[in-house]
Amino acid sequence: MKVLFLFIDGVGLRAPAPDNPVRPEVCPVLCSLIEKHSVSIDACLAVDGLPQSATGQATMFTGVNASQYMGRHCEGFPGPSLRKLIEEDNIMMELTRKGLRCRFADAYMIDRVDDLRVRRFKSVTTVMALTQPDVISTQDDLMENQAVTHDITRATFKEKGHDVKVITPREAAEHLVQVARAYDFTLFEFFQSDLSGHSRNYDQACETLRTLDAFLDGVVRLCEASGILMILTSDHGNIEDLSTRGHTRNPVPFIALGPQAGQVMNAVSSLIDITPRLTRLLVPGYVPVQRVVKPIG
Ligand SMILES: [Zn+2]
Repeated sequence: MKVLFLFIDGVGLRAPAPDNPVRPEVCPVLCSLIEKHSVSIDACLAVDGLPQSATGQATMFTGVNASQYMGRHCEGFPGPSLRKLIEEDNIMMELTRKGLRCRFADAYMIDRVDDLRVRRFKSVTTVMALTQPDVISTQDDLMENQAVTHDITRATFKEKGHDVKVITPREAAEHLVQVARAYDFTLFEFFQSDLSGHSRNYDQACETLRTLDAFLDGVVRLCEASGILMILTSDHGNIEDLSTRGHTRNPVPFIALGPQAGQVMNAVSSLIDITPRLTRLLVPGYVPVQRVVKPIG
């Protein structure tokens, strides 16, 4: 069993509306996956206020309700308490301990892992990846097409002056699934969806969703051909409602396609369930230890 986990930031579920760009005319593949292969899950985590990235993602990758632990939803980059929670245990640590091979397929434009450790601001996925440095992809991996940039096509990296060739979403899909074939658990993170949601710019949101959709089209076909279980989910809503600059309290999709997709979907109703469910799936017979963490607030 191999799993490719697509974490797409800031995509919630909402009925069709003029200010909701998540529609079949814009992103037919994503909409079809949502319609036929997903369940809607909770991202609000029983905490008031708008769900945020740091706590949502920490919950997604640890199985602990990080918003309750912090006493609030935390934005952006995790602070010391949240980093500690992620560093103590996370899905990649757990799977690695069980002898499985994990990979974070987003390329960091670094030569050595130490260049990443010294960064001042680290995302949840970076904090998690640093607990298992072997999972990290660098620019060398990207040059060998063994990694993908977080924007899919490398275009924003070229704009920033990196010596990279812009590729098509389809090529990026081939590269990603090639990685996913070589590992038990592969993670890809895309956050332009969240940035486009914050921009409230309908055309920009559509462009982002079209790139993502062309990529998903390739990923879905290649995963199906390779017998890989593809998971796609998000940490909170945003892009589906351009009437507001902030996140939304809408549920998010949890898409599963491929071997055992039905069983996985049936056991996930919120961000909290994802890590324990995937761990049990990848390590048959393994009962994840229920982490008991007291709220720090
Ligand atoms: Zn955001």
